[in-house]
Amino acid sequence: MKRIFPLIVVLITLSVIGILLIQMSWINKALQLKHETFLHEVDKSIKSIATDIQNQFLSKQQTTLFNQRDRQWYLEKFFTTQGFFTKDELHDIIEVELRQNNVKEPFEFCILNIFKNPVFNSDGFKPQDISTAFSIGLANDNDALQQEVLYVSIHEDHGAIIHEMLWMVIVSIVFTTIIVLAFAVTVRTLFNQKKLSEIKSDFINNMTHELKTPLATISLAIDALTNEKVIHDADKIKIYSSMIKEENKRMNKQVEKILQAARLEKEEIKLNIQRLDTHQIINKVADNIILQIQEKKGTIRLYLTATNPVIEADEVHFSNIIFNLLDNAMKYSQEPPHIEVLTLNTGNGMLSIKIKDNGIGMDKETQSRIFEKFYRAHTGNLHNVKGFGLGLSYVKAIVDAHDGKIRVESTPGKGSTFTVILPTLQRQDSKADNAQDEGEA
Ligand code: ADP
Repeated sequence: MKRIFPLIVVLITLSVIGILLIQMSWINKALQLKHETFLHEVDKSIKSIATDIQNQFLSKQQTTLFNQRDRQWYLEKFFTTQGFFTKDELHDIIEVELRQNNVKEPFEFCILNIFKNPVFNSDGFKPQDISTAFSIGLANDNDALQQEVLYVSIHEDHGAIIHEMLWMVIVSIVFTTIIVLAFAVTVRTLFNQKKLSEIKSDFINNMTHELKTPLATISLAIDALTNEKVIHDADKIKIYSSMIKEENKRMNKQVEKILQAARLEKEEIKLNIQRLDTHQIINKVADNIILQIQEKKGTIRLYLTATNPVIEADEVHFSNIIFNLLDNAMKYSQEPPHIEVLTLNTGNGMLSIKIKDNGIGMDKETQSRIFEKFYRAHTGNLHNVKGFGLGLSYVKAIVDAHDGKIRVESTPGKGSTFTVILPTLQRQDSKADNAQDEGEA
């Protein structure tokens, strides 16, 4: 798959380019063919025009010439248009022949005598047209004996040719666009599939790793419990049992996280909405995590300055939001983590909760993707940070479900600040009042 994929992309790209080139060459050939047909038709017309003029000259002479040789001899000796034709007559002869041969473009003409002086000159014929005009000797096809030469200047109407071929060009552009679009969609789908399969295998790796560690600890603790020396030591039994319990709890938490993500997938967020004092909950979650932070020699400071910290929300989900953000602030740090939590009320009745850390930070690309499910950034020197890449997608889904917003500001190497903005009870009340007012109105 790894090698076939780029090969397919290259082959399809080459084929599309090939089809485009072939189409262009066909269109070019068609244009050439049209041009050649035009030249051929004009050539045919010019010959007929010469014959017509000769015939009319002879009939005006009222001579009877029985054979071709006599006719030729007579023309070479006496032919001239001067005095025998008017400009309009000549114009009509030329026009009739051209139109009969499907040449519809406007034309100008002139007839020069043997001294290159004009005998007839249509109004629009310019001397410089001679070099590009179609010409024929009127008395004889043999140039050496020319007395008078007819020049017909016709400008091939490329616009008309292109107009005639327009539908062909449009249809080919439409089909080519469809092919290119279908190709782009296919490539995008293939890329997405590839990304998905990478995400899937990453997730499976992560999950096995996350579940294997507690399983190994439990297995070791059980081995220890069956040890002769331990079996009679009540204190040790207590230690190992609590170890098993702790690991069991950890495993449960991991499984719960995965189930939570699966539930979100099915959009089954059931909120048990109640009045919550967010300060109370932030204090509670911070108390739960403080031991782990102290273990890493870090600190957590709470600046709970919001005067109205009451919101209507689901207590469990809201606690999870704060826990996930604090857990990340602690996890993604090389130095001892120093975390600050700040709350404040914004003017429009919203409560803003900021969680600031001094961790590894994120670049712009990572910041734009952290709320995607399963997304995990490469944490560089920071190894062994566990996670499924589900935490922030869960946080975002819950914040959205509470009509809130979440933002991140971060500088690589300096730290990150996550801001959760939720409507306070005051705002919800005023919204309800407004709705009622509107209803009554
Ligand atoms: P997990 O932590 O399980 O990997 P999350 O969804 O919580 O998943 O986070 C997604 C990614 O966002 C993390 O893998 C990490 O790269 C990045 N991230 C989240 N929080 C922070 C933070 N406070 N500082 C730096 N990077 C973070």
